[in-house]
Amino acid sequence: MRVRLDPGLCQGHGRCYELAPDVFGEDDEGYGTVLGDGVVPPGAEQGAKRAVANCPERAIAFEAEG
Ligand code: SF4
Repeated sequence: MRVRLDPGLCQGHGRCYELAPDVFGEDDEGYGTVLGDGVVPPGAEQGAKRAVANCPERAIAFEAEG
């Protein structure tokens, strides 16, 4: 499971890194970032799903692992 984040859509509400701090971080201005390569670590799947479902801008999504 891997996530991606579209910085052009992100408005910095911060829900992603609050719900899934092992998957998302924040930049200096509070916008969301993907930690590392975006691969969701074991145990963080539920938080990642909640983050994707709760992003008000639909800026984050799951992508198929290649
Ligand atoms: S929840 Fe969505 S809009 Fe908010 S910081 Fe995360 S990616 Fe950006």
